[in-house]
Amino acid sequence: MNDTLVIQFFVKKSDMTTLRFSAIQQVLRRPVIKVSTPSAKVSDYFNSHVFNDAAMKSFLDKEAYEAVISAIKHGEKIDRKVANQVASGMKNWAMTFGVTHYTHWFQPLTGSTAEKHDAFFEPTEDGRSIEKFSGSALVQQEPDASSFPNGGLRNTFEARGYTAWDPSSPAFIMDGDNGKTLCIPTIFVSYTGEALDYKAPLLKALHAVEKAVVDVCSSYFDKSVTKAFASLGIEQEYFIVDEAFYNARPDLMLTGRTLLGHAPEKGQQLEDHYFGTVPPRVYNFMIDFEVECYKLGIPLKTRHNEVAPGQFECAPNFEEVNLAIDHNQLLMDVMERVAGRHGLKVLLHEKPFAGVNGSGKHNNWSLITNTGVNLLAPGKTPHTNLQFLTFFINVIKAVHNHADLLRASIASASNDHRLGANEAPPAIMSVFIGTQLTHVLEELVSNKTKATVKASSKTSIDIQKIPEILLDNTDRNRTSPFAFTGNKFEFRAVGSSANCANAMIVLNTIMAEQLKLFKSEVESAIKKGKKKEDAILDILKGYYKASKSILFEGNGYSNEWVVEAKKRGLSNIKTTPEALNAYVAERSKKLFSDAKVFDERELEARYEIMQENYVKKIDIEAKIIAQLATSHVIPAAVDYQTKLANGVAALKQAGVAKASYSAQLEMIQTIAAHINSISSTVTKLLAETDKAHHIEDTHKRAVAFCHKVKPLFDVIRTASDALEFMIEDDLWKLPKYRELLFIK
Ligand code: ADP
Ligand code: MG
Repeated sequence: MNDTLVIQFFVKKSDMTTLRFSAIQQVLRRPVIKVSTPSAKVSDYFNSHVFNDAAMKSFLDKEAYEAVISAIKHGEKIDRKVANQVASGMKNWAMTFGVTHYTHWFQPLTGSTAEKHDAFFEPTEDGRSIEKFSGSALVQQEPDASSFPNGGLRNTFEARGYTAWDPSSPAFIMDGDNGKTLCIPTIFVSYTGEALDYKAPLLKALHAVEKAVVDVCSSYFDKSVTKAFASLGIEQEYFIVDEAFYNARPDLMLTGRTLLGHAPEKGQQLEDHYFGTVPPRVYNFMIDFEVECYKLGIPLKTRHNEVAPGQFECAPNFEEVNLAIDHNQLLMDVMERVAGRHGLKVLLHEKPFAGVNGSGKHNNWSLITNTGVNLLAPGKTPHTNLQFLTFFINVIKAVHNHADLLRASIASASNDHRLGANEAPPAIMSVFIGTQLTHVLEELVSNKTKATVKASSKTSIDIQKIPEILLDNTDRNRTSPFAFTGNKFEFRAVGSSANCANAMIVLNTIMAEQLKLFKSEVESAIKKGKKKEDAILDILKGYYKASKSILFEGNGYSNEWVVEAKKRGLSNIKTTPEALNAYVAERSKKLFSDAKVFDERELEARYEIMQENYVKKIDIEAKIIAQLATSHVIPAAVDYQTKLANGVAALKQAGVAKASYSAQLEMIQTIAAHINSISSTVTKLLAETDKAHHIEDTHKRAVAFCHKVKPLFDVIRTASDALEFMIEDDLWKLPKYRELLFIK
């Protein structure tokens, strides 16, 4: 079919005026924007826009270069003089790209990234000007902190907060549509030192876990371990829709998801989309954003279609956690920006379409030493396997102890749609380890030889009993929120739009606490005369037994699991306001303050911000659904109802028997019932919203939005979707699911 034919098929002349039909027209006429890569080899331009080692070597003198390297490697402070040299080198490097402005690039608790651009340009006294970038401007800036979420940590009249350079994440050049900017990754803290962003606590959590890992490794397994890092590979799922459809759906535009919409006739039943061919426009978009990502040093490796129609995924190689998160934040920015060139919109929302799979951001996480050992990869010898089991079992124990906190770390209004539903990782936290490892652990605890091992015996029998662990790579479980995948854990419940820092702050902090506890228990057993290996094994066995209830190998989406999990005493917290409570539980406060990640004030502030964010999200959705129902759905329904009524009147007048138009009469009544239901629910919705707004306590307000306001969306939606199904297609003004999902 050629384009004009297709258009005629979808649109009649009279309909051209509605946004929906003109969108269909636009989309069908869109050209495929072909893109070319700067070179056939990615290695020719990978990292080209990053102030990386090579760039530093050529633009910094030896002293400045070494100071930066030492800051990266050992967290050492950079003094003013050196900072000036670094800034000037960075500026000179950036100017070779035609960069005129610089910005501190940070991650406030709004969820996106923030920038405040300043020009290098500075007027001089003699009326001329120079390009200048001083060390103090590199190291510190003072954006107005009051306009970012701060949970009461800042007053608007005392609005100073500052951003401070994080040398462990390199500066880069953002090649935007309106110019090129030198971006300097920074943390964002209040003037009194409390963190107002994601990065500051993340760096602290990473520091804590790295220290604990080094302690355990160097004490028991390998003295040459002096450094370690947590690794992270983030798989990013997203949907793509055409920009014209997006602009014709106020709900998508303003909330990121469709609040209304009848399920398409063809959904994902056929599963014919997964790993299928990527549509040409999307394919070119992918090439285009990958090029931008490569320039920024984001090591994207894979791209493919996902299960749902219109859904895709990309994943980079893993990196050190802080860098991986910066790169993921950048990736989301770049994707959204590049999509515009192709007339497309990227939907990062966890659940843009009801009844269609949602999107997640799988966090593949591990711990790696400076000796190049992945501590979550099974080894070949009993000794390395003891090391593996140590870290492996400690992860399980940590998750068991702090399951609620992990659940809280992924809680958001948008992720609730995934976690609560039976098609994404469930809200119940559990760990999947596969049949083979379950077997190994069971063998370990049932080890009959144990009783015969005396503290004084020379050969430690237990450790010899640990077999070589060879893993079958197909032993996978897609329904688990936290799954072991051979040499790493995959935290699959993180939301697609989230900043992964929340999840990583929690995961690395609980691991740090757990490893510290482990070490102190081993030490006291050794003091009591136990051999090191026996002490370790005994403690690990005890941990395994104590945390077994968190292990689950079955179908996480099933109802049986809900029942079983309840029996085991595992929580199943489906909604955000309640899930967030774990952040302010006494044991969390202790956990975070012991690890020096958050003090109590910071935790309370963060809790407040997250509850407030929840309220804002639901409030906006309430306003939009009310608006759509009133101005789009009801008028369309009334139009169709009138048309039917006119038809009936004409038939009646012509003397046609009533039986011949009874179907129409019934439809008129059904439409009336739906209109009434929508109209009265909208009234109720506005009243409940208003009532909720008057609740002083933020948590209680969030609870009201969750349980009083949000459920009314479903009532409106059910009626609206039924109307969409029955009324004449021409009269429906909002792009339908089949169009959003299938026309590209
Ligand atoms: P899968 O395990 O899903 O089949 P991959 O092995 O390609 O697929 O890994 C998926 C993601 O996990 C990638 O981003 C990859 O870089 C990351 N990954 C692999 N090994 C590690 C590790 N040791 N630590 C963290 N992430 C890792
Ligand atoms: Mg995976």
